[in-house]
Amino acid sequence: MLDRDVDTLQKDELTGFLTRHSLQSALQQLADDNGAFKLTVFAVEVSRFGVVNSSVGPGIADKVIATVAKRLRKMFPTAFAIARLHGDHFGVVFNHDNSVSENLDHLLDFSQRPIAIRGEAIVLSVRVGIADTQIEFETPYDLVNAAEIALLHSKKTMTKVSHFEKNMINDARTLHQLENDLRISLVTKAPELHKAISNSEFELFYQPIVDTKTGTIHAFEALLRWNHPKRGMVSPAVFIPLAEQIHVMSVLGNWIIRRACADAVSWGKSNVENIPPSVSINVSPIQFLEFDLLYSTLNAAIAETGISPQKIKIEITESANFSTSMRDNLRKIKNLGCQVALDDFGTGYSSIAQLVQLPLDYVKIDRSLVQELEDKASPDPARATKLARSVLNLAASLEVNSIVEGIETPYGLNQVNLLGAELIQGYVFSKPIPASEVEAFISNFKLG
Ligand code: C2E
Ligand code: MG
Ligand code: MG
Repeated sequence: MLDRDVDTLQKDELTGFLTRHSLQSALQQLADDNGAFKLTVFAVEVSRFGVVNSSVGPGIADKVIATVAKRLRKMFPTAFAIARLHGDHFGVVFNHDNSVSENLDHLLDFSQRPIAIRGEAIVLSVRVGIADTQIEFETPYDLVNAAEIALLHSKKTMTKVSHFEKNMINDARTLHQLENDLRISLVTKAPELHKAISNSEFELFYQPIVDTKTGTIHAFEALLRWNHPKRGMVSPAVFIPLAEQIHVMSVLGNWIIRRACADAVSWGKSNVENIPPSVSINVSPIQFLEFDLLYSTLNAAIAETGISPQKIKIEITESANFSTSMRDNLRKIKNLGCQVALDDFGTGYSSIAQLVQLPLDYVKIDRSLVQELEDKASPDPARATKLARSVLNLAASLEVNSIVEGIETPYGLNQVNLLGAELIQGYVFSKPIPASEVEAFISNFKLG
């Protein structure tokens, strides 16, 4: 830790760490004293903190930040400096002789452990951007910026850790630009959001979930697309986290629910001989924070469209605010007649505890758990089979139906069918398609 003059630098009140500004001064001082500097910087984001923040109130949110800070201090006693860069972002500066991989292991291990506050187990996940002086920087503070750019990159690519590379600078610019565009599209147009939507910047695509036992289409999952006027299609993996951060997810989410229900009713009409498929709607954890709004939107969508509520599946993902209230809210949704699915099981966000404790009808097994089954040249096919089989058995023993996501090839389909999986979603049947193509897809669909 900085010993000289550190006491005179301004500290963050809550954590006692340096502020961004004082970190900059400390690093400048280091450069002035030493000329050359050899450092590694971790930019650490305690992700999903936004959810904690609004779900449990600012009092608890501060407690979480203070607890994280305490753990960071304990974890890195020999760090050159630790700063709270802003909100839930920390910067940890190491001398070059600290082992980067060891420190990273500590950090990732720490992120697995829940924080207990006022009887709530709060699960946080951590993302890290890393920069070190193997790439040349003019000032040590540039290194902090570089680590933050790497952090942005890991957000964009949905990875936990990224090491800074020079070509990320352009990407970072694009991401900032995108965030701005989204603000302009949604926030400044907030009163006119519906107009922006009818301008077709947002669109729902649909991907079939096939019941391979009966050979019918079980459901279509609604997947949001943003047709950016200049950039073309932007992936929801990029803009949904942004929409959550800038507090527009609920508004957007409400449009998604209404649109998806209206679309699903129209498939029923063109499909009289067959049982019309259900519609699966992704609901962000953020929408659960304004549960009354979510609930009344669902109610209104059902009333407006006349959809049978049994035909609606609500897909939920990991919830940092997983608690009794989540369970109660899901019960209310089920009392409306809708079904509930836990999405992305196996990604580290959805835990076995949720599978046991939430009132679920379906669990969607993430592609990462079954991907290896598709690989004919897999070095350890037995391991891949065991893994998939045990997850399917777990769901079956809890009487939750499984849907396997992300099957791309007929070979993979056969493999999961052999393990008893029946409900399958993936490119093997179709990529997500525009709403206008769904009816034709239903009429032409034939398994095998
Ligand atoms: P998800 O809900 O798990 O959706 C499945 C994702 O896997 C989709 O990506 C889909 O295109 C992709 N996928 C499906 N089959 C395959 C396959 O065989 N191979 C591969 N490699 N990928 C496959 P997409 O549409 O990019 O959506 C990404 C994520 O964004 C979704 O993951 C969901 O978490 C989120 N998302 C999308 N639309 C919405 C929405 O309307 N609301 C909310 N809250 N989140 C949404
Ligand atoms: Mg989904
Ligand atoms: Mg999924």
